[in-house]
Amino acid sequence: MQQLNFIGKYNLEWHDVPMPSLPDDQAVIVRPLTATTCDFDGFAIAGFAPIKGPKPLGHEGEGVIINVGDKVTRHKIGDRVIMPWKIACGSCTPCGRGHTAQCASVPPEDSFGWGVNSHIWGGFFSDAVVVPWADFMLTKMPKGVDPLLLAGLADNITDGWRAVGPHLKERPGGSVLIAGFAPPGSIGLYAAGWAVALGAGQVLYADYDQDRLARAAEMGAEPMDLNVETLRSLKPKPWRLEGGFDITVDAGGNPEALTELVYLTARAGVCISTAGIGYPRQTIPFPVYEMYRKSMSFHTGWVHTHSLINEPLQLIRDGVFDPGPVTSTIVQWEEAIEPLTAPFTKVILTRDA
Ligand SMILES: [Zn+2]
Ligand SMILES: [Zn+2]
Repeated sequence: MQQLNFIGKYNLEWHDVPMPSLPDDQAVIVRPLTATTCDFDGFAIAGFAPIKGPKPLGHEGEGVIINVGDKVTRHKIGDRVIMPWKIACGSCTPCGRGHTAQCASVPPEDSFGWGVNSHIWGGFFSDAVVVPWADFMLTKMPKGVDPLLLAGLADNITDGWRAVGPHLKERPGGSVLIAGFAPPGSIGLYAAGWAVALGAGQVLYADYDQDRLARAAEMGAEPMDLNVETLRSLKPKPWRLEGGFDITVDAGGNPEALTELVYLTARAGVCISTAGIGYPRQTIPFPVYEMYRKSMSFHTGWVHTHSLINEPLQLIRDGVFDPGPVTSTIVQWEEAIEPLTAPFTKVILTRDA
């Protein structure tokens, strides 16, 4: 079967590899039909990630089940399913708490695509992947919804939702500031679109990239042409308690921007960093006294897709949110290399069943 592999910086190759077989009776084999890029993929293809090729690519998508283990009860051959990016068992203590990105049954970095065991599970830009613990892992594809809208739910769309959705429930009509500042930038754009769709009072999307600013504006956010330096212009003076944004989102992984966002967070507000991948081996100075004084909180971490996916899925089905404006290229499966090695926000590979 064909499998797209990362070889090195801007170097991708289709490899002919053996078709996987079922590792046990709780697993299924899925043929991906719609697959899309995570922001990490853009980062890795550009040579910024500590990964060595060849590595199968792709960890967001949906497909059709082509082989099924004897103990799988919820799924059968021919079912269309969304595969989440992260491997999780569903029965350990963290999974039981909904913290599926921290499943204790697998190594921390165990995912499709770039993960430590992707030589076993595979990547979604290929003809087949192995999904262990399939009854827990997989979400059924709803009928009548365009798969192009749902492929990113496996990771980045759900990541954008969790950056603002739960926090807006606690702060109805709250204000939101998102700092993009890094390609590919899909998570920050999804967060901006979700914030608008979920009724935020004000949604500012700050970035220097005109293409991403235009996509944010298309989703109803207020685009602000800023860079890390000019982001500071939003802050009239340090230690102020009045003003600021109820929710701030660091989607770019820039230490200076993150510190500014903490200052720009309102009293009882929350700052979320979806861009932890940008901070390996860095210690970020945090103004803890400022945070304490205004009772603000800070969240980061991998998205627990398995336990969060249903709400954003339903909202897209209901037409509340359209993730379409974030997509920069829709391409036939075998033509993926060219758009993946050029600048993108989101590349979707598609093919018929
Ligand atoms: Zn990802
Ligand atoms: Zn688990």
